[in-house]
Amino acid sequence: MKDVIHLLPDHVANQIAAGEVVQRPASVIKELLENSIDAQASNIQVYIKEAGKILIRIVDNGVGMSLTDARLSFERHATSKIKSAEDLFSLQTKGFRGEALASIAAIAHVELKTRREEDEVGTCIRIEGSEIISQDACVASSGTSISVKNLFYNIPARRNFLKSDTVETRHIIDEFQRVSLAHPHIAFSLVHNSSELFQLPDTNYRQRITNILGGKTNEKLVPVNENTEIVKISGFVGKPEYAKRTRGEQFFFVNDRFIKSPYLNHAVTAAFEGLLKDKSYPSYFLYLKVDPKSIDINIHPTKTEIKFDDEHALYAILRSAIKHSLGQFNVAPVLDFER
Ligand code: ADP
Ligand code: MG
Repeated sequence: MKDVIHLLPDHVANQIAAGEVVQRPASVIKELLENSIDAQASNIQVYIKEAGKILIRIVDNGVGMSLTDARLSFERHATSKIKSAEDLFSLQTKGFRGEALASIAAIAHVELKTRREEDEVGTCIRIEGSEIISQDACVASSGTSISVKNLFYNIPARRNFLKSDTVETRHIIDEFQRVSLAHPHIAFSLVHNSSELFQLPDTNYRQRITNILGGKTNEKLVPVNENTEIVKISGFVGKPEYAKRTRGEQFFFVNDRFIKSPYLNHAVTAAFEGLLKDKSYPSYFLYLKVDPKSIDINIHPTKTEIKFDDEHALYAILRSAIKHSLGQFNVAPVLDFER
């Protein structure tokens, strides 16, 4: 019998990887936003057409890429962010897997326009089905613009599986908000079919939260601050009387990355014990800084789950920090009353 095992062609391997990284248009937005942040952009603009199904374009004023880097950026496992396995334990960047652009280029038509500040001309590359189909020197502003067109054009099952424009736009807005809440010092905008959904100037945390959630948000925020060896906590919780009927306003960021953590959520809820009406959920925007060595982000391709070394200590510190903040705020009305 002949041997039967062979290596898959790159294009097929990329398409398989894409299955994990890119579930829907919002996943593309997340990956591209993270790349722009890693490229030190101070201004990032997002344009989408038909909920990102037709077009997703992200324009940043970051460091840009050389011609060689621009070509390489679409190869699988090609990254400028880590060099060795040890680097995984001291990650300062959002990306490190070198998979996003290769994955996206396997399942969409991609146009990249990029220029480094020091270069006179930029590079324009078009890719279809993981193949570079054109590459030209071109006029480009410094930074990078990536257009992703016709997502899942070659995977009909995925394309048909996408939800209505309303639902897909909601997912995009969620990702956009998570990233922009984590980076108030970067200006962001989001435009959908030529209507402007967000225009966020560079600002501080409190103002960014208010700009995104609008209305009376500013009044309801109670600051939380705690500094320990294990974790530095900053951010805000919503006053109990503003608690919501849904979990829509619950955000944890660990080292500037939005994460989901039912366990830490429980710590917050425990701190609110006795203060909330039934079936209501506290709002929170909590920013945790920990030593990169003490977490593992590499447990899922989308990186929204994290393993902490010392989860129990974190739980206790978080709960007591929030209790403390709520306590301080509770004292104020009593003093007023006594006067
Ligand atoms: P990763 O982010 O994990 O490194 P990606 O596939 O997302 O992998 O990107 C590959 C590489 O392309 C990055 O490491 C970076 O060097 C480069 N790159 C991607 N997007 C940008 C951008 N907006 N500006 C500058 N360089 C970029
Ligand atoms: Mg990336």
